[in-house]
Amino acid sequence: MPSYLVTGANRGIGLGISKELLKSPENFVVAAVRNLNSESIKELQSQYSQDRFAVIKIDYSDYSSIEKAAEEAAKILPNGLDYLISNAGISLQESASFETIDLKVFEEELRVNTIAPVEVIRSFLPLVRKGTAKKIALVTTIISSLGLAPNMATLAISYGATKAALNMLARKWGAVLYQEGITTVTVHPGWVDTDLGSTIKDYWAQHKPDLKPITVQQSAEDTLRVIKDAKLEENIRLYNHTGAELPW
Ligand code: NDP
Repeated sequence: MPSYLVTGANRGIGLGISKELLKSPENFVVAAVRNLNSESIKELQSQYSQDRFAVIKIDYSDYSSIEKAAEEAAKILPNGLDYLISNAGISLQESASFETIDLKVFEEELRVNTIAPVEVIRSFLPLVRKGTAKKIALVTTIISSLGLAPNMATLAISYGATKAALNMLARKWGAVLYQEGITTVTVHPGWVDTDLGSTIKDYWAQHKPDLKPITVQQSAEDTLRVIKDAKLEENIRLYNHTGAELPW
């Protein structure tokens, strides 16, 4: 039974990925959430038995919760973890300019989007090593691309920078993890109709009026396909949800 751990699983893309995975009876899903009492999580708990679905608490703003979560997950997953999907993320000042970026807010974005995933990967690494698929997926964004940055110069500057740093960590660490047979995947899930995705609606309405967000379900299906298709390689790539490669 392949096992998946998805962070930020209570809403948006993380919830979509969890629901998509649960459609297949052979998957075991661990939903990692900040709030164990989320309505969406309670609903999944009422739908799926404990031999298909488990919930653990993880807060990317509180690093100590991450190690505890990994200890708890180890009890739930005696055969290890096949797929670690670090999806939780925040974008809090997408329209701020260089002159108006709030540095405290930038720090919080950095904490959640960049630093916490390091702790997530290293805390869950023993479990991934024990698993069969040995895949670590990081949900990043096209806005993190240095190559494409001039085309989106004013969009989500601090958020883009935190995800670009995440990409760097993935590319460096992935090349090391490759040596022990662990695949690292960085994936842009598309522009998706979620709380986070809706914060950039005005930007796209102004800059590319024909562009429309994709549904959570579409994003979940695409993102999972990219994660499954990713091959073990030393050269870690940045994938669009379509499977196409994006420039770093
Ligand atoms: P949402 O805002 O819809 O959901 C964010 C999820 O992350 C929630 O489950 C939220 O939990 C969780 N989260 C936020 N902060 C923390 C924290 N401190 N600790 C633990 N969990 C936390 O966002 P999306 O679903 O749209 O985004 C998911 C990922 O996809 C993010 O990494 C984002 O950067 C990326 N992405 C999204 C795009 C889009 O268009 N939507 C485009 C490109 C990338 P809670 O409910 O407790 O706040």
